Amino acid sequence: MAITALRPMSCLGIMALALGCSLGLAGAAEAAPDAKLLAAAEKAQPALIETLKEMVLIESGSRQVDGLLKMAALVEGRLKALGAETERRKATAGAGADIVLGVFKGAGKRKIMLQAHMDTVYGPGILDSQPYKIDGNRLYGPGIADDKGGLAVILASLQILKDAGWRDYDTLTVLANPDEEVGSMGSGELIASLADRHDVVLSFEPTAAKSIVKGEPLLLGAAGIATATMDVKGRAAHAGAAPELGRNALIELAYQLLQTKDLAKEIPGVTLNWTELNTTGPRNQITEKAQARGDVRITQPGAEKKLDAALQAKIAAGKLVPDTETTVKVEIGRPAFLAGDKGRALGEKAQGIYREIDRELGLTPMTGGGTDAAYAARSGKATVVESFGLAGFGYHAKDEYIEIDSIVPRLYLVTRLLTEIGKQ
Ligand SMILES: [Zn+2]
Repeated sequence: MAITALRPMSCLGIMALALGCSLGLAGAAEAAPDAKLLAAAEKAQPALIETLKEMVLIESGSRQVDGLLKMAALVEGRLKALGAETERRKATAGAGADIVLGVFKGAGKRKIMLQAHMDTVYGPGILDSQPYKIDGNRLYGPGIADDKGGLAVILASLQILKDAGWRDYDTLTVLANPDEEVGSMGSGELIASLADRHDVVLSFEPTAAKSIVKGEPLLLGAAGIATATMDVKGRAAHAGAAPELGRNALIELAYQLLQTKDLAKEIPGVTLNWTELNTTGPRNQITEKAQARGDVRITQPGAEKKLDAALQAKIAAGKLVPDTETTVKVEIGRPAFLAGDKGRALGEKAQGIYREIDRELGLTPMTGGGTDAAYAARSGKATVVESFGLAGFGYHAKDEYIEIDSIVPRLYLVTRLLTEIGKQ
């Protein structure tokens, strides 16, 4: 989980560690599995692993445009081969890579979108220190879980459904973006507007490995992320010869930070932690300008506005250093993701499908990480559920891997769930 200036990063590695997850009802009456789909899922595993390997061997950090364009070519080529009308769109911000869209037209009623991202958190040369490799049930490589596993599940699921002749949808859209790990600033609006034209959005971030949490859970909520910035303008003066002529911005900033550090605790659905500090310097000058930045997490939409109002009121209430000027602002990055009742209902349907193959599927209500599902669910129009990707661990960290034995259950889940959605 990298952190840049305005853009805290996403990702769901910590999902597993956050707030627990509820497992499906073991022992509930099971339906028999769809034998054809299950057999097809089993048969698809080797090809999925090949695809995964091909993707992992393309280094595609969020700022590696060459690698991202190679990923886009791979994904677009596969979608075309599956019969999609494809399109590239330039991300509207960031490194200048492409978003890939693939649209399938079917014979049914529902409009369904599947989304995953092509970028990783790693820098150039990562394959030298963290190569693709297999070890027992684990397949290692940079980005293999987050989120190349998600892309591979989408492509393999669509192949299975194509082979089965499934066309029970009006529109099936696949979106692969190149900037999720840097906040989706160049693709988030497209995700939000496209999602509004679909009934259901399945998002394919990874789920957690079994050593971290049981039940390969789907995700129903994630915190939104914002940045609080406080600026103080004082007056410079010689720190030795005439300090009394200065107005120390650093001292005033320290005062305002103490005044505001607990403000969010009184506002439901938002947290604020001041984490960064910058001053103009130099050491021998009374500080003219000082700035602090804070990490804001939002679990109730709109709570950041209440925090902003409380911050404005607090700094207006008084100052320690006369003649200084303090301003503060809260800028939202990725919004909060709240799947709501309809998302939970879809998650429960997915739990039933996992039970058909004697597996339990967890539903995690909320994580502190960010996700593109938040853009898809922003207006509340589409039903959105997250984490249909493969089970894994080590993303945003080291020795990232997926669990091979999560491949068949995920393919079965996604293909069965899509056929169920198509019937509705
Ligand atoms: Zn991700």
